[in-house]
Amino acid sequence: MNAAFPALMPVYNRADICFERGEGAYLFDDKGQRYLDFVGGIAVAALGHAHPRLVQALKDQAEKLWIVGNVFRVHGTERLAQRLVDLTFADTVFFQNSGAEAWECCVKLIRKYFSAIGQPQRYRVITFQGCFHGRTLAGIAASKAEKMVGGFGPPMNGFDQVPWGDLDALRAAITPETAAIGIEPVLGEGGMKPASPEFLRALRALCDAEGLLLFFDEIQCGMGRTGKLFAHDWAGVTPDVMCIAKALGNGYPIGACLATAKAAQGMTMGTHGSTYGGNPLATAVGNAVLDVMEEPGFFETAQRRGAYLWRKLDELIARHPKVFTEHRGKGLMQGLRCVPTNTDVVEALRAEKLLVLSAGENVVRMLPPLIVTEAQIDEAVEIIDRVALKWTGA
Ligand SMILES: *Cc1c(COP(=O)(O)O)cnc(C)c1O
Repeated sequence: MNAAFPALMPVYNRADICFERGEGAYLFDDKGQRYLDFVGGIAVAALGHAHPRLVQALKDQAEKLWIVGNVFRVHGTERLAQRLVDLTFADTVFFQNSGAEAWECCVKLIRKYFSAIGQPQRYRVITFQGCFHGRTLAGIAASKAEKMVGGFGPPMNGFDQVPWGDLDALRAAITPETAAIGIEPVLGEGGMKPASPEFLRALRALCDAEGLLLFFDEIQCGMGRTGKLFAHDWAGVTPDVMCIAKALGNGYPIGACLATAKAAQGMTMGTHGSTYGGNPLATAVGNAVLDVMEEPGFFETAQRRGAYLWRKLDELIARHPKVFTEHRGKGLMQGLRCVPTNTDVVEALRAEKLLVLSAGENVVRMLPPLIVTEAQIDEAVEIIDRVALKWTGA
């Protein structure tokens, strides 16, 4: 026992609250205090906590089978892959256990594609300033953020970066070694900034013209978060490769790499693998998540709630120009750019039992469950209003 090194490695600045239970949009701590949760495990609990149908699916699967390994077939896993193929641009899916792994599987697939078509010199991926793709060595190399790469040795080679939304810089960054352009259609950690539909369409055109693969990271903005199954659905373009995770398992760890058959042509027998990826528990929950999201009206309701939150927050920032300067995001991923330090605002809201997150560019980030009600949105906005008065000095 060493005070400087608690049993849980101190890489997080954890709030001193212990949660024991969740129900829909609420969390309950060990003192029985109720919090309105607009974090959702960071865009994970899209269907809220302890959703009865997900609980049932996990219990049922837990009593049947946990693991067989990817050397055998599992019906539920095959079914989830087929459903994702039927719902998207993709022809094929590989399941992983996390977002970072799914993103990295996409990078491997991209490199392998160019190797398979006889252009192994193309291996570099262009990403955007402020991006976040997870904490693996490749993920941090792609982000180029000093706080993530510092001290971890020479960053992995193979990633170039351009400013967010800068098409000219992007064109200039393409070299004979470029393999793909990788982007979050809505920048999450980096500050809740949606790429415009025109920008995503321009990326598609550029990739087609240059023979590059278009790679979307929809780990945070996908699975209904923007009001459609995927954020790129709003732009009417499709990628060649995409990673998803977070809300796919609503808290049960699962990620997936989705790709067209063409892009995946290098991923032949034995080229990739995972012990737990696509295990029966994870895919049982993934199937149940899709069951709920495919019910009539699910996305329409999420869109209406997103629009409602948008209107309420617009009204709120108009009342507090000294606290909030800008409103960004899409659907039910929204952010308010703060005048005070965002982490101070996050803490002040937490003290009033509303959980939100910080994001880049001094933004306070809100990720309510997609099943949030108007009354819960009103409750959140009322708390933010009250807390904002603290800085307004009224
Ligand atoms: C959360 C996130 C990741 C990393 O996912 P992990 O499950 O934490 O590895 C990658 N990309 C984006 C856009 C994310 O929001």
